[in-house]
Amino acid sequence: MHITVMGTGYVGLVVGAGLADFGLMVTCVDINQEKIGLLKEGKVPIFEPGLEEIVRRNVERGRLCFSTDIKQAIRNCLVIFVAVGTDAGPDGIADLSQIWSAADQIAQSMEDYKIVVIKSSVPVGTTAGLEARMQQSLSGRNGHLDFDLISNPEFLREGSAIEDFFHPDRIIVGSRSERAAAIIKDIYRPLYLIETPFMFTTWESAELAKYAANAFLALKVSFVNELANLCDAVGANADVHVVARCLGLDRRIGGKFLHPGPGFGGYCFPKDTRALAQAARKVGEQFQTVEAAIEVNDRQFGRVVDKIEKGLGSLEDKAVAVLGLSFKPNTDDVRESRSLKICEALLAAKCKLRVFDPVAMAQARRVLNDAVTYCSDCYEAVTDCDAAVIATEWNEFRNLDLERVKQSMRGDLLVDAKNIFDPARAKCAGFRYYGTGRR
Ligand code: NAD
Repeated sequence: MHITVMGTGYVGLVVGAGLADFGLMVTCVDINQEKIGLLKEGKVPIFEPGLEEIVRRNVERGRLCFSTDIKQAIRNCLVIFVAVGTDAGPDGIADLSQIWSAADQIAQSMEDYKIVVIKSSVPVGTTAGLEARMQQSLSGRNGHLDFDLISNPEFLREGSAIEDFFHPDRIIVGSRSERAAAIIKDIYRPLYLIETPFMFTTWESAELAKYAANAFLALKVSFVNELANLCDAVGANADVHVVARCLGLDRRIGGKFLHPGPGFGGYCFPKDTRALAQAARKVGEQFQTVEAAIEVNDRQFGRVVDKIEKGLGSLEDKAVAVLGLSFKPNTDDVRESRSLKICEALLAAKCKLRVFDPVAMAQARRVLNDAVTYCSDCYEAVTDCDAAVIATEWNEFRNLDLERVKQSMRGDLLVDAKNIFDPARAKCAGFRYYGTGRR
């Protein structure tokens, strides 16, 4: 079976390479010529552990190829997975322009029956809107052209996307056509064999399930962050990690997403929570819990900046090292990264910044430009700094030689936004240590 994946980003490339690994013939297309050019040269444009190997393997076996000829790729396949971006528009309403234009391209290019699978995260009602739009577009063309739409939201996490693709918690298939649902089931047959739960449902339930999952996880993050703020305020022996562990051991709650920090970032949580809240308001409902989670999150990175200011007395002309720039470890994605928000706030307060990230330096440079000094490792970054901030919990930071870090700095302030160090150990190395929600 021939498949086309429209959008070769964090989702499209993983899905395309994964489907090729299932033995299907996949063409990944993108409007970004530079991206496709790199992929054709055998270079993977994003950092995602394990992805390069799967891409290489499937290109070598002739099952995976890359193209900017979208029209041809649409004509050559039966199934089109749409994995284009759905950015946040004004007021947080999802900007669906990439989705509409992908649908237009499909309707204008197709010459026979197609199944269009929406992988992108979209607000409830979008798939129905796409059907109407494609029907209208096709009505202007000669002959009867048939298609089916499937809502098949993606749940992979950057940093563990390969594992998530091959071992997902569930596959959701929203469909109005039994024929199309059966073909999708067939595409995912390798996952059926490992007993992945499949949910066959309506377009609308599938669309909402995606936003609901992200919003619920965002609630957990904001909850634990407020808990950490409370622990900070009561001081003494309240430790957010102990409280979170006690919470997480309750099987009704679970221990995941109960790690305090500077707030959630990345491409998905910030925009999807906003889009869900706006979608609710559009139909006269207010999703208050989600709106509260967003509000808490918008303030949380400021707590880190406040701690640096408190520790240094004032921020003006102080030198601060920011370690970790990606929105989480194991990815080079800096979209909505809380670390960059911290950098921007420190720059606005006239700090001088020295920054380091194991893989996200090039991406961060596109945002921070020449406003900061880019360093080749943590030790270079902290040199002569008044304070150091851990903003992303890369594993390699956990084993830093704290004595060496301290000796390289001119100050003694360590703000550990992700609580990767043992406070006693940091104190032993000579630091004034500010964690998140623990002494
Ligand atoms: P991305 O920005 O990395 O990739 C989107 C790609 O689509 C870009 O390369 C862009 O050039 C391309 N594109 C846009 N219009 C196109 C068109 N008409 N034809 C072909 N290509 C086109 O985005 P992403 O992170 O891969 O996310 C894609 C979707 O998946 C979003 O809706 C997102 O919310 C959802 N999602 C993302 C993740 C994640 O972790 N990144 C996880 C689950 C779901």
